[in-house]
Amino acid sequence: MRLGSLLAGPLVTALATGLALGTPATTYAGRPPADRPAVVEARTIGHSVQGRPIKAFRLGERGKPKVLLISTMHGNEGHTRQILASLRDGRPIHGINLWVLPVYNPDGLARHTRKNAHGVDLNRNFPYHWADLDGSYESGPRAGSEPETRAAMRFLRTIRPQWIISFHQPLHGVDTDTKSQRFSRRVADKLNLPRKSFNCGGVCHGTMTGWFNHQFRGSALTAEYGSHPPRRLMRKIAPGQVLSIWGARR
Ligand SMILES: [Zn+2]
Repeated sequence: MRLGSLLAGPLVTALATGLALGTPATTYAGRPPADRPAVVEARTIGHSVQGRPIKAFRLGERGKPKVLLISTMHGNEGHTRQILASLRDGRPIHGINLWVLPVYNPDGLARHTRKNAHGVDLNRNFPYHWADLDGSYESGPRAGSEPETRAAMRFLRTIRPQWIISFHQPLHGVDTDTKSQRFSRRVADKLNLPRKSFNCGGVCHGTMTGWFNHQFRGSALTAEYGSHPPRRLMRKIAPGQVLSIWGARR
């Protein structure tokens, strides 16, 4: 995909609009809540193993490049959710149609574990090159076995973003082993992170980005910060850097 479409943003994919069946949604029709003026829609996309809601928030403007930011897929990598929370909780955003999903794995965050409450690595549970892995990368009894995975798949099929950044820690870099090298270069440049290959030492099994890149026209990319990124970077600097990837602003 050319960089021009990254910036100008005409949608090249047929967009599925409307809400996924069975997912409760709150839409703020032209009247965002006073305490979160940037939020135009809040949606619970599903629930975790232990019943915690998984929430997504739409910010920005329709008709602009559709972007999804995801954090805390691994519950012990929660620092980057501050970037998404800062975008959600600040002033209105222009020049981008932005969804943020700050806490993908709420049970893992509550327990400070990489995996979900079933002991599954959610980034090995997607039905693309899924393999029966054990140990740190326990992939579950089968592809898509976990409610968090199924919620994300439903959500992605519904909103069909053009661009996804999935934030992790602590490898400090932007993935080069991905669909669009121009996207990878631009993200690395704007976030001031080095480019690295996160190819899992060969084939990545059952990852969200792998599944999305295979299934959809859009491009999904992993960006990793270090183990202890400064709070000021997460809350003050990185949010503006993220918006600058698409030429968006507050
Ligand atoms: Zn991770």
